[in-house]
Amino acid sequence: AVPVALVSGLSRTASVGVLVKGGGALEALARMRVLVIDKTGTLTDGTARLAGTQAIGRFGAEEALRLAAALDQASGHPIARTLVEEAHRRGLTLPQPGHVVETPGEGLSGLVDDRRVLVGARRLMESHGIAFPAATGSEAAAATVYVAIDGGPAAILSFADPPRVDGADVLAALRAEGIERVVLATGDRRDLAEGLVAGLAVDRVAAGLDPAGKTEIVATERRHGRVMMVGDGVNDAPALAAADLGVALGARGAAAAAEAADVVVLIDSLSPLPKAIRIAKRARAIAL
Ligand code: ADP
Ligand code: MG
Repeated sequence: AVPVALVSGLSRTASVGVLVKGGGALEALARMRVLVIDKTGTLTDGTARLAGTQAIGRFGAEEALRLAAALDQASGHPIARTLVEEAHRRGLTLPQPGHVVETPGEGLSGLVDDRRVLVGARRLMESHGIAFPAATGSEAAAATVYVAIDGGPAAILSFADPPRVDGADVLAALRAEGIERVVLATGDRRDLAEGLVAGLAVDRVAAGLDPAGKTEIVATERRHGRVMMVGDGVNDAPALAAADLGVALGARGAAAAAEAADVVVLIDSLSPLPKAIRIAKRARAIAL
């Protein structure tokens, strides 16, 4: 039986917007030492906007954007949603893509208007043997998306992806609740990740990671203490499952992440997390 103190702790965390999946997870929440945190949609607010386009090859920027957005209709990634909105804003008509294959944390491939389109991270382009020049946009906290058409490079799209306004406060509050080490684990470029955490007390930045890479970071960070992983995407699900405690941002995040997690933050903010830890500690102290 779950002690009464834990039951009331569960209802109290729920009242601050945090769904804790059971007494075991609530107890664990009180004892985390390392925070591994995802970037896009987690430390940034996931409401990116297109900040620059760099056309390469025979397709213009607008056509590359149209084909990429058409393909990204099939994705729930925060950047994908932004790209589709931008295309609509420009009055572009987006055909439905065919033969879509999504690789979490990398992007998508598919057919649009009988053209083979790839949209996603540089890693995805490399795995298809498509070389791109270096991206020029280096706006802080941006994300970079590469577009290939019919096997050749077509465009580099850069997104300004603003950091969550309360990010620094939340990290400080988590440290006050016993988190001793903070690690950023992202599928995005290293320079962008480092730009984002400049000024935040982050101990390690791991960039360019696929889902397995994120899981590996969680595993190696275990040597510093119990690991809490916070993420929002499909690409975070394996790492959420591998952590001592997986925390999903549920409001706009992927269902797969919420399912893999032990804890789901139900509002679109990181700020309830330190509160939930405080409640968990109190409940645990009473229950023991
Ligand atoms: P993070 O790990 O920081 O949350 P992701 O791994 O979700 O970031 O994404 C990393 C990069 O992969 C993005 O910056 C983008 O370049 C690319 N990417 C992933 N999925 C998509 C998609 N559906 N559409 C466009 N780009 C994508
Ligand atoms: Mg993410």
